[in-house]
Amino acid sequence: MDYDRFFHDKLGALKSEGRYRIFADLERKCGNFPTAVRHEDDTESDVTVWCSNDYLGMGQNKQVRDAMVAAIDSCGAGAGGTRNISGTNHYHVLLEQELASLHGKEAALLFTSGYVANMTALSTLGAQLPNCILYSDALNHNSMIEGIRHSRAEKRIFKHNDPEDLDRLLAADDPRAAKLVIFESVYSMDGDVAPIAEICDVADKHNAITFLDEVHAVGMYGPNGAGIAERDGVMDRVTIIQGTLGKAFGVIGGYIAASADVVDFIRSYGDGFIFTTALPPAVAAGALTSVRHVRETDALRERHQERSETLKRRLKEAGLPVMPSVCHIVPVLVGDPTLCKQASDLLLEQHRIYVQPINYPTVPRGTERLRLTPCPLHNDAMMDELVDALVDVWRTLSLKRAA
Ligand SMILES: *Cc1c(COP(=O)(O)O)cnc(C)c1O
Repeated sequence: MDYDRFFHDKLGALKSEGRYRIFADLERKCGNFPTAVRHEDDTESDVTVWCSNDYLGMGQNKQVRDAMVAAIDSCGAGAGGTRNISGTNHYHVLLEQELASLHGKEAALLFTSGYVANMTALSTLGAQLPNCILYSDALNHNSMIEGIRHSRAEKRIFKHNDPEDLDRLLAADDPRAAKLVIFESVYSMDGDVAPIAEICDVADKHNAITFLDEVHAVGMYGPNGAGIAERDGVMDRVTIIQGTLGKAFGVIGGYIAASADVVDFIRSYGDGFIFTTALPPAVAAGALTSVRHVRETDALRERHQERSETLKRRLKEAGLPVMPSVCHIVPVLVGDPTLCKQASDLLLEQHRIYVQPINYPTVPRGTERLRLTPCPLHNDAMMDELVDALVDVWRTLSLKRAA
């Protein structure tokens, strides 16, 4: 076995397909979001970031930062252990209570990331529920797919956002088997939204429980920012709601919220919860402050929606191929991996606008795109620059315009 050759060839394959990932080396500057300093070789330049998942700019919020600094000064840097062995800090407990209340559930459980929350909850449920069958939306995130795989339970893939297909699959299986339906509310690459009530109807009909990833919705939808299930008035119909503290809440960490027994079950049997060091107390303190602030600040959500609607309208007016998103995410279709990377490079080099290209396997081949995420802090001048820059790049590369 020529190991060096193997690694080199695998990387070469990605490069020749135009989907080798190059990270922009950014220095976020507190108070200047969405502007950041970009480092390249030995040079620095200011860029406007248009692809951040810090959807509401909470990563730089003064109250959040103050809470984190205060918690570092009072509790120190790390948690000092797993949750079971000395690592449970009071801030973890307060944050779990806050998250349970946000989602109208009896309890919540923290994980080190949203990825680990999905992976652990699903692998544990699928492995432990007797004769369990997992029903997964065709476009579910990798963290759910890995959790499902890890559980070794039987799985069925239902057509994306299609309750009828789900119904057909559920009806074909043993009525006595345990069943879990797994889906997202906002799908972050297309910006479409699940019919949560209809999926819950179908699940109820077949005595299945439900697991909903609201990672791209928490903080941003519903009167309290609890997500799409809250907006649609169906939070109580979903068995387990999963979310992240790393996107709209601007910090890091993931969680589930559910009944006291379901949460206690994952707490007691979930390896990815049990065998890892708890989040730093300062992270929990920052997230707690962020959740509380976002919960009571409707103006953030209103401005966020307005920015996103305005950007979609302006791009359409300029003849750019905005994909039909029904949420804050604004995908613009390129349809080729190499051109997508070139478009992103031109934006960065010539216009100091940073939008990472989104290529396979994150999206299907042929649907490569630029995924724009306007936030409340993108002002009109930044939007003017973005639209002009995109028009220029579309012309330079002769990219397809809107039909
Ligand atoms: C980002 C993401 C996750 C993982 O959340 P992290 O907190 O970033 O680990 C889970 N589900 C979906 C749909 C995501 O996009």
